[in-house]
Amino acid sequence: MKQSKLFTKTRKEAPKEEGRLDDGSAQLSKNADLLVRAGYIHKEMAGVYSYLPLGLRTLEKIEKIIRDEMDAIGGQEIKMATLHPSEKWKQTGGWDSVDVLFKLKSRTEKEYALGQSEEEIVTPIAKTYVNSYKDLPIALYQIGQKYRDELRAKSGIMRGREFGMKDMYSFHESQEDFDRFYKIVKDAYLKIFNRTGLNAKVTEASGGAFSEKLSYEFMVLTDAGEDDVVYCPNCTHCANTEVAKTEEEGLCPKCNKGKLAKAKAAEVGNVFDLGQKYPKAFEFSYKDKEGKEKMPIVGCYGIGTTRLLGTAVEVLADAKGLVWPESIAPFQVHLISLAGADGKAKLASDELYSKLLSLNVEVLYDDRDLRAGEKFADSDLIGIPVRIVMSDKTIAAGKFEYKRRLEEKSELIDESEMISRIQKLTK
Ligand code: ATP
Ligand code: MG
Repeated sequence: MKQSKLFTKTRKEAPKEEGRLDDGSAQLSKNADLLVRAGYIHKEMAGVYSYLPLGLRTLEKIEKIIRDEMDAIGGQEIKMATLHPSEKWKQTGGWDSVDVLFKLKSRTEKEYALGQSEEEIVTPIAKTYVNSYKDLPIALYQIGQKYRDELRAKSGIMRGREFGMKDMYSFHESQEDFDRFYKIVKDAYLKIFNRTGLNAKVTEASGGAFSEKLSYEFMVLTDAGEDDVVYCPNCTHCANTEVAKTEEEGLCPKCNKGKLAKAKAAEVGNVFDLGQKYPKAFEFSYKDKEGKEKMPIVGCYGIGTTRLLGTAVEVLADAKGLVWPESIAPFQVHLISLAGADGKAKLASDELYSKLLSLNVEVLYDDRDLRAGEKFADSDLIGIPVRIVMSDKTIAAGKFEYKRRLEEKSELIDESEMISRIQKLTK
């Protein structure tokens, strides 16, 4: 894409409003500040953001990684309604017990809820199609918007009132089959976070409002997170201190070597054993091998897609701006032409742009008529992993100026070397 055509522009400072909390006090969260200034998102109100071209491309990269891994373990993608009939929420008791549920009343006095999670919708859907043990197990997932009446939306896109989530629900004949699948999802989640460039730790926690059963939480260490964890620097042990108050210091109970450390963390995903709560509420049973009516065991598995994006910003960005791993960057290469509207450098840059496109490289091409310093500052703020600069000087030398986002110095390399580096990075 040509940057001259990109409708968003970068800003040196985010508008003051962006950082305001509900009570009017000023507080800029790093993720919202950078994403707004770089033109990725637009704030509508506290906790509600629109995604602009760069932000949407990044979010869609994250969603694609999640979709790949959910499909790989047999998940089937659906898209459920987000405007829910109140009856279903009354049937499970959620209408009165879920404090974050947004409730609406129509002009004919009919009541609705906005989807904050979809057990009330997915269970009746599964009930429609699952009649026999032969129809199980199934795992249904979707990626889309959720709405929650959060009391405080203060961490930019990390705690929204409207936000993106992947939610999956699985239905099983037995606890054993559920336990088998639960482990498979846990591994798929670790792959997802790894692929998005985040180091997620798994905690075991009690399921809170959702269930009395055990659950896993996937935590990324960052001061912008709202959870407190203790973890072992030596092994994979991690615990949410809300549920494991006793082990806040000392040696790791798992490896017995590392010294436990405390940290703030953001919960980017979790998996719950919901038991039979929802099949009971919706009288969902199937015929088992002996022809007897049985209720399935249900699991639910969430990933906060927009929180994940915000977490990547919090963990990876530096003083100059955003820093993206290749896998979720909006573009792979930022090609910067340091020539006016015409001239040799412009022609050569146009040519390289076409060539990279023909090689299926995603390129943001800065073809604007601006000073070099402004272009470089924008490039650092936008955070694309590879920067290639073309000027009359580089062209005269028959070279290309190549730099990774986090490197201080650029290198002059020839075309074949540049292409091979880019192809290696984006494989
Ligand atoms: P939290 O404790 O942070 O409120 P939760 O336990 O309410 O999270 P779930 O209902 O299990 O979260 O939702 C699944 C995932 O959705 C969470 O792991 C998190 O990544 C994300 N998520 C939850 N609430 C929000 C929110 N308000 N804004 C953005 N992402 C959210
Ligand atoms: Mg919550």
